[in-house]
Amino acid sequence: MDLVSVRTVRTPSHRDDLDLATGEHLLAGGTWLYSEEQPGITGLVDLTTLGWPDTERLPGALRVAATCTIAALLRATPDPGWHAWPLVDRCANALLASFKVWNAATVGGNVATALPAGALTALLVTLDATALVWTPDGGERRERVADLVTGPRTTTLTPGEVIRAFDLPESALTATTGYRRVSLSPHGRTGTLVTARWSDAGSVLVVTGGTPRPLVLRLPAVPDAAEVDARLAAHDDWYDDPHGSPAWRRGVSRRFAAELVAERSAAVRAGGAA
Ligand SMILES: Cc1cc2nc3c(=O)[nH]c(=O)nc-3n(C[C@H](O)[C@H](O)[C@H](O)COP(=O)(O)OP(=O)(O)OC[C@H]3O[C@@H](n4cnc5c(N)ncnc54)[C@H](O)[C@@H]3O)c2cc1C
Repeated sequence: MDLVSVRTVRTPSHRDDLDLATGEHLLAGGTWLYSEEQPGITGLVDLTTLGWPDTERLPGALRVAATCTIAALLRATPDPGWHAWPLVDRCANALLASFKVWNAATVGGNVATALPAGALTALLVTLDATALVWTPDGGERRERVADLVTGPRTTTLTPGEVIRAFDLPESALTATTGYRRVSLSPHGRTGTLVTARWSDAGSVLVVTGGTPRPLVLRLPAVPDAAEVDARLAAHDDWYDDPHGSPAWRRGVSRRFAAELVAERSAAVRAGGAA
């Protein structure tokens, strides 16, 4: 939709241009920003003109720019040992958006929007990603994506802070993963998404969509099914919206977690697991 209160659009080429004036707001792909009225926004500052490379190899990590689109991430070439890479495709598809949206929507925009069904947030949390955040005083800070998203449409980002990138450790990229998703209708928004990362150094099970913010269970290499189920049963903060009731979301999340833990146990018994 047209944002009728917007009077200016700036196209920064340098970090110094990111000082936001009153009424200015950051723009990435615009797929959420242009989807509803934005009262009070009088100017947009387009992050996509900063020219950040979509992906960069760092020692021991993959850096994904906040402005990397979902489509560009899907086109990236993984290293042969990155067993977790199929999760990128699965999480991109969890968004149920067309290729037109994939070509514009950015990874940073997905995290900053902080919808419970933020499937790129799910991907990054499962792969233990850290956000690199530029602060308005010219400094920077780092925070796990799992902690940065605090609830529906809320994050730890303060005014003027910009997510520059996400760093995904190679130790997570080389792990094996699991994925289960459900929605109330074939093309509906995610009711719950349960993802897992398994490794000998420790495993993680993540629930998004079903919970207001990512729920992260840190687990041993081979989790105990009863313990995982008890932790989910005891969790009392499940999301409630037209895409699913809290009781249903808890029920399917427990079932998915049980399936994923069983898969992991079977793989370890068969000797093929990392
Ligand atoms: C058909 C359709 C289906 C969708 N399905 C889903 C879905 O299932 N799950 C879901 O989560 N979303 C969904 N969305 C919403 C949205 O498309 C995504 O969340 C998308 O990833 C947002 O990215 P963007 O680059 O378009 O962000 P924008 O719309 O440009 O920005 C969104 C917000 O993030 C802020 N922002 C963007 N980048 C940064 C940054 N680097 N640092 C700080 N703040 C930043 C902006 O200021 C703005 O407040 C859907 C949208 C459409 C149109």
